[in-house]
Amino acid sequence: MDQIIVEDLQVYAYHGVHRQENEKGQNFFVNVTLDTDTREAARSDDLDLSTNYGEICRFVHRFLTEHTYKLIETAAERCAEALLLWFPRVRQVTLELMKPEAPIKLSFGSVSVKIVRGWRSACIACGSNMGDRKAHLEAALRALREDRKCRIMRVSDWMETTPYGGVEQENFLNGAFSLETLYTPEELLEVLQKIERGENRERRERWGPRTLDLDILLYEGRVMDTDRLTIPHRDMTNRDFVLKPLAQIAPYEIHPVLGKSIMELSRELEKDGEKHVL
Ligand code: ATP
Ligand code: MG
Ligand code: MG
Repeated sequence: MDQIIVEDLQVYAYHGVHRQENEKGQNFFVNVTLDTDTREAARSDDLDLSTNYGEICRFVHRFLTEHTYKLIETAAERCAEALLLWFPRVRQVTLELMKPEAPIKLSFGSVSVKIVRGWRSACIACGSNMGDRKAHLEAALRALREDRKCRIMRVSDWMETTPYGGVEQENFLNGAFSLETLYTPEELLEVLQKIERGENRERRERWGPRTLDLDILLYEGRVMDTDRLTIPHRDMTNRDFVLKPLAQIAPYEIHPVLGKSIMELSRELEKDGEKHVL
């Protein structure tokens, strides 16, 4: 992706763990690289279609002088997040915060923290088979739309489906949606589980009835398997009630383990798999 780069922006600020640093202040220097598409602005020669580097400099300068943190880690993290929230064309920020006057009694050029943060795309499966099913699914979308760190992109149809996993229970309403988010996968799971709890989700039996289930299917081509989180979702390729709605919103997305598109996986399952979508 194209980049806009600012180097060695000087900011006199008050970050540090020592009181003296917070009171007296010192010079910091910042390097910022913004990943953003500059093509449209270049073609029209119109600044309104780009991200103004003057504004970026003023924004970073103001942010780092108006806030005081103990750690440059925190200062860099918050500043990168603020940039991503404020400048809509910026997809990723690489920010290096340098502290050449850090209180270390040795000779050194500078110490710094350098981080890369950005909007990541994710696909979520949702399902409900208790109470007002549609209202539960829509409450989830509303909660995520109100969250500044998420941008809902595409939403599938809600599909009537029969239960999966052998538990006798009511039919489900299932769907899928895609979003862009500043959350890590673990943070996103926490946010989704909080929304589930907000809809009175109780965890009783596996695959049993629930007001709302929100599962992370895909996250930015990432593959991971921890105690809390498996991405891509472990069982998604066996579920037509997941792949069908997902194929509506992200047909060409590639399953990063199987190397096949969602459309392909959906068609394969349609041929040979269990049928739950009515
Ligand atoms: P299934 O995951 O088979 O659809 P479920 O959605 O009913 O079952 P839950 O009770 O919602 O299961 O979640 C059980 C645990 O699964 C969660 O606490 C979470 O830590 C874990 N989990 C692992 N991978 C994922 C994922 N990709 N999305 C959501 N939860 C996940
Ligand atoms: Mg589930
Ligand atoms: Mg779940």
